[in-house]
Amino acid sequence: MSRRLLASRWLAVLLVVPALGAWTEAGVIRSGPSTCHGVALTFDLCPVKEGSGFDEPLVQELITHRLHATFFPSGRWMATHDAAVRELLAVPFFEIGTHGEEHKSLPTLTRAGQVREMEGAVKRLASQYGRKAVLFRPPYGDYNEESVSVAHQEGLQIVLWSVVSGDPDPKLPADRIAAEVERRAHNGSIVIFHANGRGWHTAEVIEDVYRHLIVEKGLAPLTVSELVAGCADHHALVPGH
Ligand SMILES: [Zn+2]
Repeated sequence: MSRRLLASRWLAVLLVVPALGAWTEAGVIRSGPSTCHGVALTFDLCPVKEGSGFDEPLVQELITHRLHATFFPSGRWMATHDAAVRELLAVPFFEIGTHGEEHKSLPTLTRAGQVREMEGAVKRLASQYGRKAVLFRPPYGDYNEESVSVAHQEGLQIVLWSVVSGDPDPKLPADRIAAEVERRAHNGSIVIFHANGRGWHTAEVIEDVYRHLIVEKGLAPLTVSELVAGCADHHALVPGH
């Protein structure tokens, strides 16, 4: 395909704005509406080779402050963290999506491979825990046109982010991560963190984010679904909307 044709094809994809509104593109959610004075804190559970793989102090921190949050467990992570999955599912203000079965980069796979990667974790969550998940975060945030099509076919909504915390970087101290998140997060932001222990200071960062973003700035902590729905049920709408 020629370069120009390819470019026009992408333009066509970008112009297809689904019913959710202008903050989504081609079936991919990156943030909620700017009319919502809320923020979605999201936590990936990528598979880990060593360590506990579960940041229990972080989860306790979220529970203590009743911070609505969204988790994206991968199938391989679920396979080794049964008790942690049950713990997350038991918290009524936590939303659970999925993060691929083996944490593979989708564009490297055939369509059938993408279907397997997306379906695996969803089926695992349904068969072992009786939970239907509709939110899907692609591993590494990698996706292509095929991924959007497969997600649509599978009834999954791709969720990316608008603010990167950078929490897997061991060189970044907690105060720098928190300051950057607090500077960049605003109405409708989706922030990505990790809850698999590879976010080295995430619990500490969340304590800071709670104090400054939630208490001082008054942003409502919402799950991704609550945020995308416009946070109308959470009394967090910007006046005039
Ligand atoms: Zn991941």
